[in-house]
Amino acid sequence: QPTERLQKAIANAGVASRRAAEQLIATGRVTVNDVVVREMGVKVGPHDAIAVDGVPLSHPEHKYFLFYKPRRVVSTVHDDKHRRTVTDFFTDEQVRLYPVGRLDYDTSGLLIMTNDGEFANLLMHPKFRIEKKYVAKVQGIPTRTALAPMRQGMKIDGKKLAPGRYNILSSDKDKRTAVVELTIHQGVNHQVKNMFKALGYPVMKLSRVQYGPLNLDGLTSGDYRALKPREIQALR
Ligand code: URA
Repeated sequence: QPTERLQKAIANAGVASRRAAEQLIATGRVTVNDVVVREMGVKVGPHDAIAVDGVPLSHPEHKYFLFYKPRRVVSTVHDDKHRRTVTDFFTDEQVRLYPVGRLDYDTSGLLIMTNDGEFANLLMHPKFRIEKKYVAKVQGIPTRTALAPMRQGMKIDGKKLAPGRYNILSSDKDKRTAVVELTIHQGVNHQVKNMFKALGYPVMKLSRVQYGPLNLDGLTSGDYRALKPREIQALR
């Protein structure tokens, strides 16, 4: 069982520099398995639960990736219809990953992949209200007023949806299409499509471009990268 010094474990998790980690320990802000540790040099292993100010450090065996899901890929680990799944993109990783939430088969964009079930459940919990920004290409050219119900909170299939924020980014008068960005913090099935559809602007193409503080900068469709410790921390 590999072990390392507590201050090194904290520094490696990206929470603080080695020196700042020593300071955190000395001031009683660090716990190991729920016990405050103030002395330096305590050895910890992968099965020790370390927390700073009550916030757990990520487990070394836990992996977190930001994935740019392409269109025509299912957000499940397995598909009975033998379509490509999100896990097909992670065959180089030696762990079993699953997606945090879902994107529709024909939706592209930002999806977090992890093997940390607790983290996944946390992010998916409605009370966390993580904002997700989508860019939708829709049929028809809505005015700002036509989309106002999105801001007020719509009721679809008897379910009251939380309000969202939207911006009309562009429109094509010849093709009669428009591109609209919509930010919501809920994740009801097909929510974005259903919201636009209910207002008479069916979605032709949909992409999720932002998830909380994360975006797709530097990635192309089908690519992924490891989340930085600070990014994982920011989501918790
Ligand atoms: N809303 C949808 O309609 N589809 C998605 O994939 C995500 C949000």
